[in-house]
Amino acid sequence: MTDLNIIAATGAPLPAQPFTGRHLIGGDWVDSADGATFDRHSPAHGTLVSRSAQGGEAETDAAVAAARAAFDAGVWSRISGKERAAMLLRVADLIEANVDEISVWETLESGKPISQSRGEVGGAADLWRYAASLARTLKGDSHNTLGEDMLGVILKEPIGVVSIITPWNFPFWILSQKLPFALAAGCTCVIKPSEMTPTTTVRMGELLVEAGMPAGVVNIVLGHGLPVGARLSDHPEVDMVTFTGSTAVGKTISATAAGTLKKVALELGGKNPQVIFPDADLDGAADAVTFGVYFNAGECCNSSSRILVHEDIAGAFIDKVVALSRRVAFGDPMDPQTQVGAIVTPEHNAKIDGYVRQAEAAGAKICLGGGVLTVPGLDGQFYQPTVVASVTPDMPIARDEVFGPVLSVLTFRTLDEALAIVNDATYGLSAGVWSDSIHTCLDFARRAQAGTIWTNTWMDGFPEMTFGGMKQSGQGREIGSYGLEEFLEIKTLAMRIGKTRGPWVR
Ligand code: NAD
Repeated sequence: MTDLNIIAATGAPLPAQPFTGRHLIGGDWVDSADGATFDRHSPAHGTLVSRSAQGGEAETDAAVAAARAAFDAGVWSRISGKERAAMLLRVADLIEANVDEISVWETLESGKPISQSRGEVGGAADLWRYAASLARTLKGDSHNTLGEDMLGVILKEPIGVVSIITPWNFPFWILSQKLPFALAAGCTCVIKPSEMTPTTTVRMGELLVEAGMPAGVVNIVLGHGLPVGARLSDHPEVDMVTFTGSTAVGKTISATAAGTLKKVALELGGKNPQVIFPDADLDGAADAVTFGVYFNAGECCNSSSRILVHEDIAGAFIDKVVALSRRVAFGDPMDPQTQVGAIVTPEHNAKIDGYVRQAEAAGAKICLGGGVLTVPGLDGQFYQPTVVASVTPDMPIARDEVFGPVLSVLTFRTLDEALAIVNDATYGLSAGVWSDSIHTCLDFARRAQAGTIWTNTWMDGFPEMTFGGMKQSGQGREIGSYGLEEFLEIKTLAMRIGKTRGPWVR
């Protein structure tokens, strides 16, 4: 391990007091009726970061009732797009004014590097600004060709009360992929953040209150999937659930929501391949592969955790990636130099290691890493940068979401063969291709089964560009104008002009 780039404990002072998180229900910050709480410790430092109210069905029902009352009263759903946009822009400004403080909580609860947290929290402000622009440009259609005495209008209306259930790996960012778009549409919301990372969602609630959001428009219930998430999925007064998380929980939510036939939007897991052809910019590809697998410690739906390298260049390409991997700074997430931080829980670290051990036993070759990482001065859990070669498409490490800093390398000879491996997957979130040939890139882009395709790049994203998965990576789309559409109901309005319609009764 001495040849890795490890950042030891900085000794930087952590917040003196843990954050106290309460539910936001109908404009009030409240504890749970039974006084129950849950704790979150820093996965890197082991210290207590937050103590949060632990919600149950009573708190969830109260929050849904508040969102329902606010929606039906029209305090948000019936105001102008201009007024909604002004509110979203105020929130964006408040986010930017609080980036440093919010980022510390984000890093301490998730384990991600502080420089990355600052990028995500600051970047989230842009999602709010983009959603504000959509609030003002939201419009339906008109039909002026239905005959002289008819006019047809397609109205777009907010779908109603939306449950927002989020994961721990990008708590503030993913909330901002959903909430401002739901609000731009005119919906009211109840949010349940992950029990692992509740604090920055509470901070978002505080910013919304500060911005002057009317009571009940945005509510937050802290707690676990059972019972809070499940109740948010089956509650008859909820019109839609938007969920980001694992495919297994997504299926449960879909089944639970079916009881009331509410709309369900799902952003789920991925096993995202990058395919590298010999004519590509191989240095650029190696850097993007290194970024793609270690970003967020691989705990990322878009992690490029498997690559397919053309047989002619496989050995040299693996050497490049291994050399780059040694230079990536793993360690104390509070150090601004750190690029890869802690793994979210000890159980998850053991699960990552289990995949590596299983692959090794099945004949795969560990080219780098392959074990837990010790960071001097810290007793949290970390995993080494790991490159595994000679992986075959049937191995679990090639098919499952490992969700750690572990790269699986497979090889191919032809585009058809690469596409067959890429598409032989239950997931379909994103995929990438590296080649100097526009024909190779476009052929791949059109035939790969994934919601996002990157050619000669990886993980570029923009508020304007919609995002979502095919197959078991999800349903529905987020961000972009399609992201707003998810939160809209469509109503058809047929109007007769002038004389009344001809008699039906003879
Ligand atoms: P998870 O599915 O374990 O939990 C996500 C959320 O669901 C949490 O808030 C949790 O409390 C809640 N939940 C758990 N059980 C529930 C139930 N029965 N009913 C309702 N809610 C329930 O996911 P995670 O471990 O927090 O996050 C990691 C997963 O999220 C990975 O699979 C990753 O790929 C996925 N993810 C996907 C995207 C995307 O955009 N496609 C983005 C980030 C993460």
